[in-house]
Amino acid sequence: MTHSYLHIEYLDKHFGAFQALRSISLSIEKGEFICFLGPSGCGKTTLLRAIAGLDLADAGSIHQDGRNITQLPPQQRDFGIVFQSYALFPNLTVAQNIAFGLENRGLPREEVALRVAEWLSLVGLSRESHKYPSQISGGQQQRVALARALALSPGLLLLDEPLSALDALVRHHLRTEIRALQQRLGITTIMVTHDQEEALTMADRIVVMEQGQVVQVGTPSEIYHHPASRFVASFVGNMNFLEALVLSEREVRLGSHPLPLPNQARAGGCIELAIRPEAITLDAEGGIPAVIEQVEFLGAALRLHCRADTYCGPQRITVQRPFDEARHSRVGSRCHLGWPASAMQAFAQE
Ligand code: ATP
Repeated sequence: MTHSYLHIEYLDKHFGAFQALRSISLSIEKGEFICFLGPSGCGKTTLLRAIAGLDLADAGSIHQDGRNITQLPPQQRDFGIVFQSYALFPNLTVAQNIAFGLENRGLPREEVALRVAEWLSLVGLSRESHKYPSQISGGQQQRVALARALALSPGLLLLDEPLSALDALVRHHLRTEIRALQQRLGITTIMVTHDQEEALTMADRIVVMEQGQVVQVGTPSEIYHHPASRFVASFVGNMNFLEALVLSEREVRLGSHPLPLPNQARAGGCIELAIRPEAITLDAEGGIPAVIEQVEFLGAALRLHCRADTYCGPQRITVQRPFDEARHSRVGSRCHLGWPASAMQAFAQE
C-alpha cells in the first residue's frame, strides 16, 4: 500500500470549550514544502504543535512515514523545529548551539565537529562559529536555529513563522536560502506563516486555514487563480470584489453589457465578482467606464485605483498594469475597464 509521508485524519483540538482544530485531514508527500497559511488565530501553530507532539490532539490521528505518532511525546517523533524567536542557548557559541543535539545523541567528538563544520558552511556561518547569539544578527541567529534543527537529520522540518521577526531584506534573502536548502536536502518541510507572499513564493502546496479548519489545499497557482471561497480569494493576493446583478442562470450585469456568469454562482439577486487587479485592462472595447482616482508607483507596475460607473452604482476597482503600458495614466483620466471571462469568479454575497 502506498501512503503519504505525513497523513493526518480528522484531527480535533480543544482548549477548554474553544475548538482550535476542527476535523483536519491532510496528506503531505515526502520532500514537499508545505505552508500553513491563514489569519492570526486560525489554528496554524496548534496544528504544527500537534504534529510535533508539543500539544496532543483530542481526536483523530497523525501518521508519519507509516508510524502512528498521534500520542507519542515529542522526543519519540522525528522532526526538527525552528520558532519565530530563535530560542538559541545564549551561553553557547554558534558552533556549540549546533553541536548540542549531536552531543546529546552521544556522537563521537570528531563526528560532531565534522557535522558542525558542514552545517556552518551550509548556512554560511563558518566565520561566526565562535560568536555568541547576542553577537550576531537576527537573520544569522535564525540560520543557526535552522542548522541546529537540521543537524540531527530529521525526517521532517517544522518552521513556525521563522522569518516574521526579521526585517524585509533579510526575510527575502532567507526565504530563498531556506527554499534552496530544503530542495537540496529533499527534506519534507512544513512552515507556518500568515504572510501570503511568503507562502506563494516558497511552498509546493499551501494549506489555507480559517477558524480551525482547512479550507483549501493547492499549489500557489491553484490557490491564487482558483480560490475555493471568498475568504481564500480575499486572503491571498489583491482582489476586487464587485457587486453585480444576476440576470439569468448564465448572465450577470456589471456594465452596459451582460457578462457570462461563472458557473459556481447561483442565479438570483446580486453576487460578487472577484477579479484580480492585473487581469483588468484599461481600454477594453465596451468596457465599464471609469475614472482614475489614484495612481500608485510599484516599480515594475502601476496600481490604479479607479471609480467605475457600474450597473449597481459607482464601485472602486483596482487595476494593476506594467509600468511601461500604463505610464501615461493620470489622476482624472477616463478609461474603460474589461477582463477576460476566464479571469472572473463569482461568490455569493456575504
Ligand atoms: P498566529 O498567527 O496568531 O500565531 P495561529 O493561526 O497560529 O495564529 P494558534 O496559535 O494555533 O493560531 O491558535 C488558534 C486558537 O487557539 C487561537 O484562538 C488561540 O487563542 C487558541 N489557543 C492557542 N493555544 C492555546 C492555549 N494553550 N490555551 C488556550 N487557547 C489557545
